[in-house]
Amino acid sequence: MKTAIVIGGNFAGMTAALELKRKGKDRYRVLVVDKSPLFLFIPSLIWVPFGRREIKDISFRKDEILRKKGVEFLQAEALEVDADNNKLITTKGEFTYDHLVIATGPKVQFDVAPGVEEHAYYIGTPNGAMKTRKALEDFKQNPGPIVIGATQNAGCMGAAYEFLFNIEKWLREQNIRKKVDLYWITPETYLGHFGIDGITGGETMLKSFMKMFNIHYRTEVAVKEVKPDGVVLSTGEVLPSAFTMLMPPFIGVDLVTNSKSIKANPSGYVPVGEDYRHVSIPNVWAAGIAVEVKLPFTPGKVPFSTPKTGYPSDETGKIVAENIIRVDKGIEKLKKKSWGSIPGLCIMDAGKKEVIIISDKLFKPRNFAIMIPNVIFDFSKILFEKYFLWKTRHGYSRLP
Ligand SMILES: Cc1cc2nc3c(=O)[nH]c(=O)nc-3n(C[C@H](O)[C@H](O)[C@H](O)COP(=O)(O)OP(=O)(O)OC[C@H]3O[C@@H](n4cnc5c(N)ncnc54)[C@H](O)[C@@H]3O)c2cc1C
Repeated sequence: MKTAIVIGGNFAGMTAALELKRKGKDRYRVLVVDKSPLFLFIPSLIWVPFGRREIKDISFRKDEILRKKGVEFLQAEALEVDADNNKLITTKGEFTYDHLVIATGPKVQFDVAPGVEEHAYYIGTPNGAMKTRKALEDFKQNPGPIVIGATQNAGCMGAAYEFLFNIEKWLREQNIRKKVDLYWITPETYLGHFGIDGITGGETMLKSFMKMFNIHYRTEVAVKEVKPDGVVLSTGEVLPSAFTMLMPPFIGVDLVTNSKSIKANPSGYVPVGEDYRHVSIPNVWAAGIAVEVKLPFTPGKVPFSTPKTGYPSDETGKIVAENIIRVDKGIEKLKKKSWGSIPGLCIMDAGKKEVIIISDKLFKPRNFAIMIPNVIFDFSKILFEKYFLWKTRHGYSRLP
């Protein structure tokens, strides 16, 4: 029996572990090491500040599901990988492995500019989303200008756009929209670039949304500093702000950066081939955000990155499981699919409206890419959430 350790068990890691056990059965002992025993459906965090979701609605115990499916779970923080000796050091002891899967997601780089951590809100964690809810309650009593956006080097602009349109809708629902000057700031070269060089019609659609909802915007700007009452841009402009929410850049987690034997790239991501196998360590694999992805576009004046969304995270988890099994069976031909050639499937919430984005490939050149707006309600986003939570609660990792 071979031992496979999966570090991180959310989108990519949970899929990789369940798929390896499902396909490899008793030939594998699969152990997931994660700091948290909870699975968290991160995309719905954008609704938490507005009270549309509670954290308990979008999270559940994953250790129980994994154990039911024959996967062991250890709640611990992984501290270092000693790839030369096939050893993982955690806060709860050391473990040896035959295969190691790194699926640790991102670390948020709050120190990208002074004041980002102290004076801007961040909705990407349960704690951050709840703090934002509290701040909005206070804001309601004393409204003022709002700045929403993404900083230089950020890649997850989509979530910030979603929050922007949700807050615009919320302001109208609270009857305070007229009292608020709403600003969108982004390092993107144009609206709707999304770090994937856009989708046909996307820029026009976003421009019309900005006009329709009276949202002022600045493209190709970096954040120089966030102050308690405003945001200083790289252009020198100071936008007054009584409430600021920013999406900072993502980098690799400390475990990867600190593990010299993993030879992470400067951003802390794991260098892998199109088979998601480490480029020089044959029994180390990576899936999800932990994977190094080359920038698929030429940046403009301000650097920004590419998003690593849920669908490819799930998909790379599946590829890793399949390839580990192939390697152990002595099959030389591994499954290969570069990150950019994975189909794009994303639903952007636009504040009880939505835009469905479908493409045959995430990155250009694509054969097709369409954006379908739905201005009636965000049905598809809700349906997707329900489906994903149902699938994960049952451990149905083989489903898309
Ligand atoms: C606000 C927001 C909204 C988003 N909306 C969407 C959306 O609408 N659609 C979409 O497709 N994508 C969306 N995304 C992106 C999506 O959440 C990610 O693609 C996905 O979570 C990546 O999965 P992952 O498994 O790689 O990382 P994660 O989901 O971040 O999981 C990483 C896991 O590793 C664990 N971990 C990390 N370090 C260690 C360690 N040292 N030891 C032990 N455990 C560790 C963590 O506890 C965590 O469980 C959004 C992201 C954000 C922040």
